[in-house]
Amino acid sequence: MSIRVGVIGGGQLARMMIPAAVDLGVDIRVLAEQEGMSAKLAAVEVGDYRDAATVLAFAKTVDVITFDHEHVPQAVLHALVDAGVHVHPGPDALAVAQDKLLMRERLTELGLPVPDWARVSDAAELQVFLDAHGGRGVVKTPRGGYDGKGVRVVSGADEVADWFTALSEDANGGSLLVEELVSFRRELAQLVARRPSGEVVPWPVVETVQRDGVCSEVIAPAPHSAGRLADVAGEIASTIATELGVTGVLAVELFETTDDRLLINELAMRPHNSGHWTQNGSVTSQFEQHLRAVLDLPLGWTGSHQDWTVMVNVLGGPVGESLDDRFGAVMAEHPSAKVHTYGKEPRPGRKVGHVNVASDDLDDAVYTARAAAALLGAENA
Ligand code: ADP
Repeated sequence: MSIRVGVIGGGQLARMMIPAAVDLGVDIRVLAEQEGMSAKLAAVEVGDYRDAATVLAFAKTVDVITFDHEHVPQAVLHALVDAGVHVHPGPDALAVAQDKLLMRERLTELGLPVPDWARVSDAAELQVFLDAHGGRGVVKTPRGGYDGKGVRVVSGADEVADWFTALSEDANGGSLLVEELVSFRRELAQLVARRPSGEVVPWPVVETVQRDGVCSEVIAPAPHSAGRLADVAGEIASTIATELGVTGVLAVELFETTDDRLLINELAMRPHNSGHWTQNGSVTSQFEQHLRAVLDLPLGWTGSHQDWTVMVNVLGGPVGESLDDRFGAVMAEHPSAKVHTYGKEPRPGRKVGHVNVASDDLDDAVYTARAAAALLGAENA
């Protein structure tokens, strides 16, 4: 019988694990939030990932559990572990990715480079931090934020009065995270994979370009990153993976500051948008590597096929049409472009797919990937 992997969450990350699983001969099953999600091409069961009984019953049908997102509650994760289920990444590692305050605390304890930060419980505490940092800062809700939701650049504590009100109404109480407004030259991402037995393998560090808090493009490797920059980024991500006991793919989002430091912004413990380029640019894609890692199989080589790979997200798409209607035009116009679609209805701002182009010429890769995404109706391209 084949090895069986269960993925909690039916989004595009679960969807893109499917071809990797097919190639490896791994049986992949998905616990999806609802019918008709991106991962509908696998064996799908629909159920609530917040309900321990539902998740335990799903886990009984597989050999290892992994994730498409980080929102499974700690109580459910611990119920799985207590029942003897192999969960990768495990609850203690995932806790750090689930809560930005816990993340800042753990990274600071490990002596890793992060922006100046503080935990603040009321407007007065926040104002003290802002006054000490030139009157400005970035306030974040510790949990549940994504794609820039739950992140506000502020120049006064009153600009997050609504968040403090929500906290005071929350029976569990709680705090906000405030950080210095980092002056950065660009944003980078360093991905690594780690097996339970300890092996860690990095990909090259990449440059990520965001529009309105959402990833728009990725250039692999990050231009001018050879040497020290790549070494430092790789060292940071390997240290985090090892010290936090991450299993599977870990993405570390970084700021390259205007005074040449690397500061850690965010962590994701699963395949990540900044690693989609690996599907067509790397000998081992992040989806294959994630499966190998959670199954504790030897990790694959992460050398690149060509000098450069550029990924452009398709945000929005042709509203009222299907992306498929545009395929013919893209294929005819840009035969080197690799189009990946998520089976989602186009809607303004929604990530519905991406395009990868690998080339030995960076300008050619950037141009072709943007042009192909634009033909697909990407509002960001
Ligand atoms: P999310 O979890 O929603 O992705 P992030 O914490 O990654 O939120 O922040 C989203 C974006 O906001 C980042 O990609 C970056 O462009 C900007 N940002 C976040 N924190 C800071 C900071 N301390 N200084 C400057 N910009 C920031």
